[in-house]
Amino acid sequence: MAEKKEKKYVAASEDSKKARQTKQVPNEDVIRAVKEAKPVGNPTPLRIGAVCLWVLALVFEVLALMVFLGKVDLKFMPQIPQLIAFLVLDLIAVIVGAQFWKKANHIDPVSEANQVKFWLWNNMGLIAMAICFFPFIILVLTNKEADKKTKTIATVAAVICLLIGGVASYDFNPVSVEQKEAAMDVLGSETVYWTTFGKVYHTHDDCSHLNQSETLTYGTVEEAIAANRVRLCKTCANRDGISGVATDN
Ligand SMILES: [Zn+2]
Repeated sequence: MAEKKEKKYVAASEDSKKARQTKQVPNEDVIRAVKEAKPVGNPTPLRIGAVCLWVLALVFEVLALMVFLGKVDLKFMPQIPQLIAFLVLDLIAVIVGAQFWKKANHIDPVSEANQVKFWLWNNMGLIAMAICFFPFIILVLTNKEADKKTKTIATVAAVICLLIGGVASYDFNPVSVEQKEAAMDVLGSETVYWTTFGKVYHTHDDCSHLNQSETLTYGTVEEAIAANRVRLCKTCANRDGISGVATDN
């Protein structure tokens, strides 16, 4: 077995740093305080930012279409590079918006009681992506006046954007309010650890899965979920005999 690496600890927040420095022992008061604490971060500006970026993306889609139709011409660039530039701007705006949206959902998750609603809400970025590319693709394909070469390039470029954007906007780690509450009920006052690229959080910083990690971020389970680590490490869960908290398999 490889040697354990010397670890560097990074606090997820000032509160977590203080809790560690004072070696706070979880007691009833602490548990209550953690549960009643405001969610980490504020989801509202993130959601507003996401919607603004998606509107901007829509503007870029319209501009790309106008360039295609010859109604907008920036002169200093030929038509095809102009068209691709607007599609790329469209793509960037949707992806950045989707990241804001996903972050907001990890801070303030919705209920999974209604699965359809849960999926639609979490994947609003994917829906925005469809709205910001499909109309363009359909209008280009059904256009009878443009030459074949321009049509092909415009369609291929938009489809590539749609694929890249789809993967970047989809939430592969959705979290529900039920999942978050279950985790906070069990681990609300505990310090948990996660690595820079890891997908789960751990209750033990000496967990065997962390042997090769140099940097550990620590914080509350709520901070771990906000940081997109929505499941507990299975090894740690078994070690603590924890059940009822989402784990990795
Ligand atoms: Zn672990």
